[in-house]
Amino acid sequence: MLGSGSKVSVRKGRPADTGALSQVFRESWQFAYRGIIPHVHLEGYIRQRTPEWWRTAMRSGECPLVLDLDGKVVGYATFGAARHRGPYQGEIYELYLDPVHQGMGLGEHLFEGCRHALDMRKLSGLIVWALLDNTQACDFYWRRGGRPVASTFTKIGGARLEKVAFVGVPCQITPVRKMQLVDASYLNNGRKKDKHIERQTKFLKGYGARVALNIGLLCTEVFTYEGLMVEKIQGEMGIPLSDIKKFNVKGKVLIYKKDGSLVEMKLKAAQEYARTECHHCGDFSAELADISCGGVGAMDWTITILRTPYGEELFNRMVAEGLLEVKPIEEFEKSMQVLLRLTNKQHLRVPVPPGQDASRVRNAAQLL
Ligand code: SF4
Repeated sequence: MLGSGSKVSVRKGRPADTGALSQVFRESWQFAYRGIIPHVHLEGYIRQRTPEWWRTAMRSGECPLVLDLDGKVVGYATFGAARHRGPYQGEIYELYLDPVHQGMGLGEHLFEGCRHALDMRKLSGLIVWALLDNTQACDFYWRRGGRPVASTFTKIGGARLEKVAFVGVPCQITPVRKMQLVDASYLNNGRKKDKHIERQTKFLKGYGARVALNIGLLCTEVFTYEGLMVEKIQGEMGIPLSDIKKFNVKGKVLIYKKDGSLVEMKLKAAQEYARTECHHCGDFSAELADISCGGVGAMDWTITILRTPYGEELFNRMVAEGLLEVKPIEEFEKSMQVLLRLTNKQHLRVPVPPGQDASRVRNAAQLL
């Protein structure tokens, strides 16, 4: 922990630091990459970084900067000329902190130390390569003004490390978010083998770790395909499914046929085929998504809610690049009212668990 009298300094590594450097490397890499880099390969990298490896690096002039906290090495950084040609001459190759000292602002000292050292070598511009899966590292560089300028794929042990965007209704967004946020350290109870921890961590976080962006769709209910489409529309109403071009729900069910005609159906008639689980679902607007989207009565426009800094940044970038046309929400006052009404109404669908107080599932305004 950092006390008010703690002394923090960044200095060149010395031969006496090599044991501590190996330990920081082991702990920080396990913390950052467990569940991302296949276990065997991760352990291989860690085994390579012996004190001898660091001594050899120092002898060959590749001296790391170390972060010294009250006489103890708790982090390091390596840097030099950029390994790829481009507009950035300098590069930070590695910057890692012992996990117990992360989140205290100490990485900033190392980052500034590297920047200063690269300036002294007259290397202008700075690039850092980080695995997208390493969200902590990406956030760290982002907060220091870093922005993505290039991307590449890397294959480690056959695992292609890449990201996807996930689009889903709220009950699909929530489990993805849970996978991303769950702290898997509880799996390490001191009794399990590394390979079991690795497999369970991968199972718990692996799919979520692949998702860089969550896009949620507004949703009040879904209908079963067999019930609504096959039984009702095709069977009862006599519309072959192959004749349908588009299907929409806007206060009523709208069936657009390929011949240009439109058939309307009362929403109540469709609701007979809603999934029963939906009647207890409280999340209308995908509250855990990065970006939520839906029509809510706005014809030809999509009402979009930017929910996280990443979602906002991405959206703004697309607008700046002319990929999206936007209008202020004030022009869709009615849709906004519907959005708020349905959000509140849907919150109230969550049943109060038997024997529990309503405040468990209702906010203060809903309890009035
Ligand atoms: S209303 Fe139904 S389909 Fe929509 S998010 Fe909730 S549970 Fe999922």
